[in-house]
Amino acid sequence: MARDYYALLGVARNATDQEIKRAYRKLARELHPDVNPEPEAQERFREVSTAYEVLTDAEKRRIVDLGGDPMENGGGAGGGFSGAGFGGLGDVFEAFFGGMNTSNPRKPRGRVQPGADSLLRTRLSLQECAVGVTKHLTVDTAILCDVCVGAGTNGNSKPVRCETCGGAGEVQTVQRSFLGQVMTSRPCPTCRGAGETIPDPCRKCGGDGRVRSRREIAAPIPAGVASGMRVRLAAQGEVGPGGGPAGDLYVEIVEQPHDTFVRDSDDLHCTIRVPMVDATLGTTVVIDTILDGPVELTIPAGTQPGEVSVLRGHGMPKLRANSRGDLIAHLDIVIPTKMDSKQSDLLRKYKAMRPSERTEVLSTQSEHNSGLFARLRASFSGR
Ligand SMILES: [Zn+2]
Ligand SMILES: [Zn+2]
Repeated sequence: MARDYYALLGVARNATDQEIKRAYRKLARELHPDVNPEPEAQERFREVSTAYEVLTDAEKRRIVDLGGDPMENGGGAGGGFSGAGFGGLGDVFEAFFGGMNTSNPRKPRGRVQPGADSLLRTRLSLQECAVGVTKHLTVDTAILCDVCVGAGTNGNSKPVRCETCGGAGEVQTVQRSFLGQVMTSRPCPTCRGAGETIPDPCRKCGGDGRVRSRREIAAPIPAGVASGMRVRLAAQGEVGPGGGPAGDLYVEIVEQPHDTFVRDSDDLHCTIRVPMVDATLGTTVVIDTILDGPVELTIPAGTQPGEVSVLRGHGMPKLRANSRGDLIAHLDIVIPTKMDSKQSDLLRKYKAMRPSERTEVLSTQSEHNSGLFARLRASFSGR
């Protein structure tokens, strides 16, 4: 069972870093061993410190949100505690004073770091979303420096141990606080935590081991994607400092509006204008569908205003599934607004032939009324 780190801190699952920090501060004031020597308090302090460490680390928090436990198998910084005496002090100080790297206080973090993920957006037509497409995109990311191949050094020069921190990657200071006198550490300002410096850096990348570059990639977009979805291209993101492994590239879909169809998940909706007489006598119309070419739709005689006609399986393909949504045609029945005298005479003659039809306010119990609403409900929910 994965521990519920959110519950340990008493914060919501969508809590911001600020809210997490605030919640942790409040608990640390009650539970810190200097304040509360009870064994139970110390145990809880250990737990909330771990929760704080996990939830303020984007990668660990992501694992939690996916239902995992990043601290299982001793992952991360030794179960959240390290160093002699009571652990978690670094975390306390980060929460109170900010700005410390507490992920592993005793080891330099090294010069080589994994690269960040990148995100770019691409516009697709509804057609492209339906069929799938290989999009050729220009990507601007950090790539490995081809001169030093990530080493960051010039020619045969070598990195040397950082003089400021002696290679530890951190510098220690003694601070007085309401918790008493405590030693805190922060990343070395000279080597920025790497523990070493490069006196003779690579001329091309300045010692970073990577350079920015623009390149073309072909991104395969599967059929059925929709706006906001992201296609992941592994290891196509930023190369890390010191030539560290590249992050992933995410291509986010931005679907362009279509002339005829409005998309709702896997269904497509369109509106068909039906003249009153066509609705009365019945007719057919050809819909130019996205994937199936022209499809004939029959509008039966007696079609009522507001009715819909569903073409099952003529909607969008479902992503990575062998099925499709529906195409839903909304029938908009048009009453003529202008008629010449010949036409109105004709309608008056028609009216005279149907003397039982008259304009009236209906009871909700009336058969016509409930029938109409039931039909409307059925046509919307029965798909
Ligand atoms: Zn270089
Ligand atoms: Zn240093």
